[in-house]
Amino acid sequence: MSQEEFTPPGSCGSCVVCCEALNINTPQITKKSGVLCQHCTGGGCGIYQTRPQVCRGFYCGWRMIKGFGEDWRPDRSGILILVVPDHPAQYTGAATGFNFVILGGEAAIMRPGVSEYIAQLVSHDVAVFLSADSLKTLINDFLKDLVAAGNMPGVTKMLLHIYNLHLEAKRTGLLDADGNMTENALR
Ligand code: SF4
Ligand code: SF4
Repeated sequence: MSQEEFTPPGSCGSCVVCCEALNINTPQITKKSGVLCQHCTGGGCGIYQTRPQVCRGFYCGWRMIKGFGEDWRPDRSGILILVVPDHPAQYTGAATGFNFVILGGEAAIMRPGVSEYIAQLVSHDVAVFLSADSLKTLINDFLKDLVAAGNMPGVTKMLLHIYNLHLEAKRTGLLDADGNMTENALR
């Protein structure tokens, strides 16, 4: 969303990932996930001064969370981190959960530091979700024993497995392009 005036540290630079990856359904803008917003110039917002409120108020996890390096910027990392306010109450490690939306394929998951960061969140009882531009899955229970054992290769393998299950669910029509359950999923 680029050229932010303000608060969370850093700036979007030339990243426009959220202007493409997110499903937006407001009176001002309607677009499907995976479709670049008609107002995006490719390096920023073409209607920046008059952009809708939904865009003004949005910051991805890379903008919100302190400590991420430049390599975590979504257009570089292939991972869009979304804040999940309505996470299950037993995860008390943070005020929100975090959804890691994998946009850059398996390479994004295998990038150095990704498994370690997710493992750190799990070890601190933060709700962690994974999605592939689809329904998100709470993944803490799948990772907690691997994390407790310090098994980082196992954590990476599990993340890849969950990611590929999401891809498979989309490919077989259990999920539509927006991540919603289709009628096939209910048969
Ligand atoms: S995905 Fe994050 S860094 Fe990229 S444009 Fe959106 S808010 Fe900015
Ligand atoms: S209106 Fe601007 S900030 Fe909002 S999605 Fe479109 S290009 Fe991005």
